[in-house]
Amino acid sequence: MKTEKQQRLNEYYLKYKHTESGKKARRRAEQKYKKTPKGQEVQRIANRKKKLKFPEKIKAQNAVHDAIKRGKLDRPWVCELCKAEVFIEAHHNDYAKPLEIVWVCAACHKKLHFHKNSPIKAVISAP
Ligand SMILES: [Zn+2]
Ligand SMILES: [Zn+2]
Repeated sequence: MKTEKQQRLNEYYLKYKHTESGKKARRRAEQKYKKTPKGQEVQRIANRKKKLKFPEKIKAQNAVHDAIKRGKLDRPWVCELCKAEVFIEAHHNDYAKPLEIVWVCAACHKKLHFHKNSPIKAVISAP
């Protein structure tokens, strides 16, 4: 159980969080933290992880969006695997070839990524 005093303090902070000065204070605290060695280390690791994990993927996705925007590619409305007529996502077997796309629904896309040895994978790599 919270004491009444704690409760009041809590309410005060909840309101304060949404005020301009509350937001400013949080930003200031964040910035201060980023300047500490610990904060910089955390920041550096997060950036490095992002780059390491997704550079090709992000480039490939951008290339697809770009091609769609320029009218070079059409996003189909039928999944190449299960023939479902839903919103279709672009899957890359090889991010180095950003315009070699397998158009699949979200469900098939998940399967492609999470069940590496699924029969679907075999279907795709078959000629
Ligand atoms: Zn599908
Ligand atoms: Zn994919």
